[in-house]
Amino acid sequence: NENFFAALRGAYAECAERTFLNLPGKRKISYLEMDALSAKYAGALRQLGAEPGDRIVVQVDKSPENVALYLGAMRAGLVYVPLNSAYTAAEVDYFLDDAAPKVFICSPEKLAELTPVAQGQNVTHVLTLGSNGEGTILDAASKAAAFDSIVTRSKDGLAVILYTSGTTGRSKGAMLTHENLSSNAKTLSALWGFSPDDVLLHALPIFHIHGLFVALHTAMLNACEIMFLPKLDIAELRRLLPTASILMGVPTFYTRLLAEKDFGKADCVNMRLFISGSAPLTIETFNAFEARTGHRILERYGMSEAGMIASNPLQGARIAGTVGFALPGVALRVAGDKGAPGEIEVNGPNICVGYWKKPDKTEEAFTEDGWFRTGDVGTLDNEGRLTLVGRDKDLIIAGGFNIYPIEIEQILDAIPGIVESAVIGVPHPDMGEGVAAVIVADGDGPDDAALAEALTPLAKFKRPRKFFRVDALPRNTMGKVQKQALREQYKDAFT
Ligand code: ATP
Ligand code: MG
Repeated sequence: NENFFAALRGAYAECAERTFLNLPGKRKISYLEMDALSAKYAGALRQLGAEPGDRIVVQVDKSPENVALYLGAMRAGLVYVPLNSAYTAAEVDYFLDDAAPKVFICSPEKLAELTPVAQGQNVTHVLTLGSNGEGTILDAASKAAAFDSIVTRSKDGLAVILYTSGTTGRSKGAMLTHENLSSNAKTLSALWGFSPDDVLLHALPIFHIHGLFVALHTAMLNACEIMFLPKLDIAELRRLLPTASILMGVPTFYTRLLAEKDFGKADCVNMRLFISGSAPLTIETFNAFEARTGHRILERYGMSEAGMIASNPLQGARIAGTVGFALPGVALRVAGDKGAPGEIEVNGPNICVGYWKKPDKTEEAFTEDGWFRTGDVGTLDNEGRLTLVGRDKDLIIAGGFNIYPIEIEQILDAIPGIVESAVIGVPHPDMGEGVAAVIVADGDGPDDAALAEALTPLAKFKRPRKFFRVDALPRNTMGKVQKQALREQYKDAFT
């Protein structure tokens, strides 16, 4: 049986009494208990009429029951479809229309608002799951007979539809198979040296690849304990950090830890590995973190459609500003001239089979020889180390010249008094696009003249002609800067 749940279960079967989720100060759930819970949810979903291949859309707050629901859907052979808990009713409407699920599960607080939305999309079953383990799906689970076997799936069988974050356009549903999940999880578990002694500190959301797959799967394959926080709470994260050995975070985790004045080595006594991804980790953050803690953050690169693609090494040099080497078993190439920036293309057992109900997008996403186009631009050095220079959609073309925002952002970020920056291209009457920089400064920060002065090492055509100051860059929950929103906001900068 290639159902990935069978592999997860196999990994903890011999030691199922071990703690799986530890909700500090509240409760501990062993692997055995989670196994039983997932069987309950699988039973409830089946009783609702969900059959292998049917979609289950879930928009709830993070909780152990949410994990059980995910695992229950997988063991029942259903296709799990998690949604960002911040999505509005109008957005949920789009996803329900697209995914056409048999069952939709939402937070109790949203039931009144979302029931008509679901009915409008002919979703028959709408149930709830609350953040404190309450809701109608629990009632259904307690009544249903537990389903404690595992539905047989082939490795090509769909396990999850994971919608992309919608950073560059409308979210697309990446169709992930059991093989996609399994190959990536096993590779990462070995690459990052996971062992049963590891304790993973988990403060990421579980509607996204990072918290749901990268974190949960690697830990489960080693029957590790997970300290499970409902959300990112820096005080709580710090309090628990000394008892953890691995932290996976988005860059915001690290900038927020560094903002704690007395954060340092004493917080990290049992830590062996800090991992970062989902958005670029700046060189400043990497360096500051090393100076304070002695740890060089391991940055890796991945996406909904491909799982993890590249990672800095566990042993060997972790280099700031790069995302390391292709994972074992994953092939990576950069289109265009050798050594020059080009679109990153990947191939391997991690690549999704396409976009749900979007044959055109699927077709566009693969090259003629079957490699997946990531939409990210990068460079590969002679050793195979990958450096991201941005997304192709964020590339600026001014007067016919290509400009990579990151090159400018790195200079701006290094200026004392600048906290962070985002460089964007907006319509320009002569040049096609003009370069603008949106800046977050500490206090007043440097004036425009000082900024322009700092940018003189860059060719003239690359230098921003306008600077805008904001209190914070618009980011989504995964810490990704919403450049599309900035381009919209400053679209009249040069007109
Ligand atoms: P959409 O595809 O809908 O526009 P998205 O690409 O942001 O949204 P995700 O699949 O959640 O949706 O994110 C994958 C993207 O995140 C990658 O393509 C890449 O641009 C970015 N990313 C991931 N890891 C890193 C990293 N370490 N550094 C920089 N960017 C990263
Ligand atoms: Mg994407």
